[in-house]
Amino acid sequence: MKGRGAVPLALARALRPPPGKCYHHCGRLVRATSIASPLPGRWQVYACPSGVVSVTSYVEWTRRDPSAAARAFLARRTIPATAVRARDLRLATRHGPELGRPVEQILRAAERRPMRVVYWRLYPFKARDGTERRLFVCLRRRHTGPVFFPASPTDGRARCPVCAAGRKRRARSQRPAA
Ligand SMILES: [Zn+2]
Ligand SMILES: [Zn+2]
Repeated sequence: MKGRGAVPLALARALRPPPGKCYHHCGRLVRATSIASPLPGRWQVYACPSGVVSVTSYVEWTRRDPSAAARAFLARRTIPATAVRARDLRLATRHGPELGRPVEQILRAAERRPMRVVYWRLYPFKARDGTERRLFVCLRRRHTGPVFFPASPTDGRARCPVCAAGRKRRARSQRPAA
């Protein structure tokens, strides 16, 4: 358990949205995956099996606004980092009553410290050539942590730039020296 700001599992569970579908893409179920970070709170990324991201959330049990720290983390994990814009991050403050009695009691016991939830939602947008871009996430273990990147949703399984760079490097090292 990390220090101040850490979110007990019971609280994190109460915040989980009901399972949803991947809208305007494949219509399949969106799955929640936890991602690790140096921040004290908990991250969840909600994505379909092809990696199209519906929303990414960060929850911290704190009075302060964790938006700037959350944005800095996302920018480090996104290619290009400029795709993470302040206006796509939304802060919600949860005090408990709307999450049910057990959660409300836990929050009350902690000097009424609320939970802060930062949502990062990047809506589909048009690239310069007029084609659509969606936010994807690659959660493969060959790189540490998630890699977020905008790509065309018609590519099927979009290519993660970090995995693609790794493939190129490997191909180069296997080529015999001239
Ligand atoms: Zn999808
Ligand atoms: Zn990757």
